[in-house]
Amino acid sequence: MLKAIDLKKQYKPKGGQVVNALDGVSIDFSETGMVFILGKSGSGKSTLLNVLGGLDKYDSGEVIVKGKSSKDFSQADFDSYRNTFIGFIFQEYNILQEFSVEKNIGLALELQGKKADKEAINALIEQVDLKGYGKRKPNTLSGGQKQRVAIARALVKNPEIIMADEPTGALDSKTGAQVFDTLKKLSKEKLVIVVSHDREFAEYYADRIVELQDGKIISDQYKHEIKPKNNNGIEIVDDKILTIKKGTKLTNDNLDEINTFLLNQSDDVIISVDNDANKEFKKFAKINDEGLKETFYETTSDDVKLKEYDGSVKLIRSKLPMKDSIKMGASGLKTKRFRLVMTILLSAVAFGLFGLADTMASYNKIDNTVQSLKDSNIDYASFDKEVLQGEGKESYYRHTGINDSDYQMLSEKFNINFLPVYSISNSYMSNENLYDRSAIGNSNIYLDRYIGATEGTNEDFASFGTLTGLYPTDYNEVVITKYIADSFVKCGYRNLATNEKEQINSINDMLNKKIRINNTDYIVSGVLDTKFELDRYKDLDSTDISNLNKMLLMDELNSLQSTSMHGLLFFKKGFYDKNNDSKFSSLGDDRAF
Ligand code: ADP
Ligand code: MG
Repeated sequence: MLKAIDLKKQYKPKGGQVVNALDGVSIDFSETGMVFILGKSGSGKSTLLNVLGGLDKYDSGEVIVKGKSSKDFSQADFDSYRNTFIGFIFQEYNILQEFSVEKNIGLALELQGKKADKEAINALIEQVDLKGYGKRKPNTLSGGQKQRVAIARALVKNPEIIMADEPTGALDSKTGAQVFDTLKKLSKEKLVIVVSHDREFAEYYADRIVELQDGKIISDQYKHEIKPKNNNGIEIVDDKILTIKKGTKLTNDNLDEINTFLLNQSDDVIISVDNDANKEFKKFAKINDEGLKETFYETTSDDVKLKEYDGSVKLIRSKLPMKDSIKMGASGLKTKRFRLVMTILLSAVAFGLFGLADTMASYNKIDNTVQSLKDSNIDYASFDKEVLQGEGKESYYRHTGINDSDYQMLSEKFNINFLPVYSISNSYMSNENLYDRSAIGNSNIYLDRYIGATEGTNEDFASFGTLTGLYPTDYNEVVITKYIADSFVKCGYRNLATNEKEQINSINDMLNKKIRINNTDYIVSGVLDTKFELDRYKDLDSTDISNLNKMLLMDELNSLQSTSMHGLLFFKKGFYDKNNDSKFSSLGDDRAF
């Protein structure tokens, strides 16, 4: 099915030591079975899985899929391989919180261009042992159940291989076991490769355990089942353990045998009829439900049952029905375009199509997503960057923002016009110009702070909406959005010279007003209507947001506010070079559109 030959991959962090993440890994996988990849944090487990799954590039060596060498793969082949053969399951479930279990699975089916009928959805739900949970929302499920929804979604494309990187890393051992139970069941028909650092689980569930250290395989063992010797109802396992079958009445021969057995012991012997204790004991002694003792031995070529392939494997080009998913999103979420972008990006992450989060370093992975966005006539998307900090259990993603070189890379690589978004150190409108903050109430439907600032040409800004007034012609001029202007309409404008409230009746009243940002006054030269759909959030304009729909809407508004251009200030191109002091934080702190 899958074979790796002498895979090598190095990481050369700037200024750091070269890391041999994979240092000559060769391995052959059977068609089915559950293989655990064990090893300490940093031993190369994730790298190996990513390389085998086509999620990551390697420096040298070869991956052979059904007899076809990756050397003969084009990038499109790699994409197809991922999309048709492999179901990925990650530690963070990657399921959409707003949708029920059914909806999550249905969405995955539709994204694969399959019919999302009840039958198909229920079949998947049953496959992952979640019968009866279809209508539940993810936040009412346990971690293990959520992870099984993620497995169901990975099964949608009927992959031949399931790859899971620490799938139970965030779960306690009981719910973790449920996830492994499901994976184990699936491994009867598929190859399941699980990365883990839990040896106990591995020994219990694995058919094979491969152990990595410093990018090398240091052991590769296969589980064998030892049949006990049966002697008239008494089974002797490994010459050490006697089990007596239920309902057995001992004969004299049996008694003789037990006596012989006892005489050879140097320590006490326990005969237990305590079911619970015996269950634990069996687990400890690695005796499975069939009474067979499981032991691991070095994997041999006999263990790895391989099929012959002629190397002409057919890779099905995956067709992501983007237009459909937009339609689908549009019906469910009205026409909130930005929300759609978020949904699509989310889906991209969720369905293993590669979100942007950790893939900045391997641009080719995000090509697809960006191309799909372009193809779907989506006007803009918001990007930000997170960097993985620390190792193993302590690792976490830290929001770092996009720096100059990322920004340059994004622009060059995708030939898209990216505008940097800077954060503003003192961003509260209400500290300076917004007269009556309390008019906003608790709903936060209006803005009381500038979300960020950008600079660009008139053409750049024109692509974001229609302008009333003028584009900035000087660095002391700024264009605000209609959404910001609407907030002034709601709360009134504080004239900083007189400290008096001025009524703002329409957005035009904001033209030529001075707004103060970080102790500097700027003249509002224009108001850009970015088509923010205030009406959509009208229901939130009260203090009561207790029902679920309102909460979801609130959530949507919050994310829209922080990831859209509706709350930005627009400055003349070159503004940041001029203002290269601490008033606005540097590019390193923020986002790009
Ligand atoms: P594991 O999954 O076993 O914890 P990984 O495969 O993630 O290990 O990492 C193997 C080694 O490669 C580690 O030393 C890790 O620090 C390094 N490494 C992984 N990814 C990167 C990267 N993007 N840049 C630099 N070093 C990396
Ligand atoms: Mg890892």
